[in-house]
Amino acid sequence: MTHTVLLTDYAWPDDSVERGIIEGAGMRLVSGPADPAPAAQIESLARDCQPSAILTCWAQVTAAAIESAKPLQIVARLGVGLDNIAVDTATSRGIWVTNVPDYCVEEVSDHAVGFALAWTRGLVHFDREVRAGRWAPSSARLRRLAELTCGIVGFGRIGRATARKLAAFGCRLLSYDPYPGTPTPGVESVDLESLMSRSDIVIVHAPLSPTTHHLIDAQRLALMRPGGLLINVSRGAVVDTDAVTRALEEGRLAAAGLDVLESEPAVPQALLSQPGAMLTPHVAFSSDASLLELRRRAAEEVVRVLKGDQPREPRNAPAGNR
Ligand code: NAD
Repeated sequence: MTHTVLLTDYAWPDDSVERGIIEGAGMRLVSGPADPAPAAQIESLARDCQPSAILTCWAQVTAAAIESAKPLQIVARLGVGLDNIAVDTATSRGIWVTNVPDYCVEEVSDHAVGFALAWTRGLVHFDREVRAGRWAPSSARLRRLAELTCGIVGFGRIGRATARKLAAFGCRLLSYDPYPGTPTPGVESVDLESLMSRSDIVIVHAPLSPTTHHLIDAQRLALMRPGGLLINVSRGAVVDTDAVTRALEEGRLAAAGLDVLESEPAVPQALLSQPGAMLTPHVAFSSDASLLELRRRAAEEVVRVLKGDQPREPRNAPAGNR
């Protein structure tokens, strides 16, 4: 029997990488629309094409979609988070759920370091000034990164990569993680309050969970040295955006580098009117290399499972496969 793989949606111009790998393994690829279709449409696609595997980017893979695809063996996420997949249904039906957990470690840590350099060297600020017709080098209030303390909140894969890169700039490094793991030479592990009060630059790499919602709130921001920088490249709701906006308004924070917002894609006007705000539209994960790696590894995981092997990145322990 030829396996059918359903690609529900994709956040890139075409499905060539996925198609090359799936068809190269002698399987059939059926692609849904590039933009994620409503759940009901994904459910009817699954019912009609009876896939052995579903590859999904942002589209909802509901319990109904999973239940209607009788030959289904794997739901592979083109990304990290699994909140668009009915994982429990998959698990109870013996279906693997996989992701690609580390495809963008370099990109997200580069993005964090990029915000730090953009601030210390005034790259965003002066680009705006020059475009507005102001050539005023004497107004510069720039900083030497090597003399600053950077605190990393969430010391996992990406946090450690950020520390490794910042170490090359010579700054002092602090980290906070409730599950600290192996100590890293040159990085002092501290509690969150000490990190906030000792850091010129605070970088948030903690995941969003019920316990990390607004982990960085008004009280913790108030602990920071005046005139510092807050960077968030994790998930918007880990940081209280209103508290950051108020700290910028009052000059307690000099700047904020935010790739993620709790209200995204909406951007609060109060934040937009803060000159210290450096904003990017949730692109820290993205590069030509990271997207290629993501697409290749997710499709290869599908082929591996449909050929009878174990997945490399299982995120569940499906009944019958444990
Ligand atoms: P990871 O799982 O390797 O590391 C996360 C670390 O955070 C872990 O060490 C964990 O112990 C720690 N942590 C858990 N609760 C915490 C808390 N209350 N306070 C501080 N630390 C806490 O994950 P990762 O690969 O390093 O990714 C980190 C986060 O980056 C992801 O959860 C994701 O939200 C975000 N991310 C963002 C983008 C983007 O494009 N902006 C891309 C990929 C990942």
